[in-house]
Amino acid sequence: MTVSSVSASVTGTLYVVATPIGNLDDISARALRILRDAALVAAEDTRHSVRLLQHFGIETPLIACHDHNEREQGGRILARLQAGDDVALVSDAGTPLISDPGFHLVRQVRAAGVRVVPVPGACALVAALSAAGLPSDRFIFEGFLPAKATARRARLEHIKEEPRTLIFYEAPHRLLDCLGDLRAVFGDERQAVLARELTKTFETLKGAPLAELIDWVAADSNQQRGECVLLVAGWQAPEGEEALSAEALRVLDLLLAELPLKRAAALAAEITGVRKNLLYQAALDRHADT
Ligand code: SAM
Repeated sequence: MTVSSVSASVTGTLYVVATPIGNLDDISARALRILRDAALVAAEDTRHSVRLLQHFGIETPLIACHDHNEREQGGRILARLQAGDDVALVSDAGTPLISDPGFHLVRQVRAAGVRVVPVPGACALVAALSAAGLPSDRFIFEGFLPAKATARRARLEHIKEEPRTLIFYEAPHRLLDCLGDLRAVFGDERQAVLARELTKTFETLKGAPLAELIDWVAADSNQQRGECVLLVAGWQAPEGEEALSAEALRVLDLLLAELPLKRAAALAAEITGVRKNLLYQAALDRHADT
């Protein structure tokens, strides 16, 4: 046996353990076993996680591992793993690293060649998407948008024409402002879903065009409380000439100045890769306007 395989066999494992986002029944049997058997639970907030462990009669010692101490604590946790102890990483709720601490630790542990094993379970964005009724084959998760309006709008402008379903986390006290910015950037008609208090008593999933959703939230202060995920339908290319990019139209105009309409549309299609019919129609529209 080589030295490296000896050391690999005595090294512990870092388990990244998802915990419930509200309903404690959502913890998995595997998560409970790992939390019980680990030498140490590294928790975002030990006061919070101790209650979860107590609820399940688990007495594994806890150590704090949060945004402010993750790098230093990483060294200590790595030393325990290298000494052969298994460590379970948990956050306050849901899956660690998903808008939660843990990334630096996982990176550090993997870089040291120590095994990292996911123990999947609740995650608010996945729970929301699974029940929202928006296209779920492709989506992007944007986490929390910037708290300040200017930065938030700038971020939204950047993803305005994103065709995949968009998912955001938002704090309840910013929900209305955030919805207002979503409407200003994506328009009144874009379909959205507010997924609030998932797995809890007042769970709500409300889907409506953005303008309607804002009115609904504004009219009921209860909808402005608790935890929420916002989902917005992806951008759909408008039909017809509006779908043409400014660049495609620029090429078409240059060619129209020199060539007959049909030839200009055909050449523009070859240059830009846009469908010939679309460019032909655009050329006709331009012709009619002059
Ligand atoms: N790691 C967590 C996960 O896997 O979803 C997310 C942690 S992040 C700090 C907390 C945010 O997740 C909340 O502000 C809210 O946007 C969302 N969230 C968490 N629990 C939720 C719930 N029960 N219902 C709706 N959103 C929730």
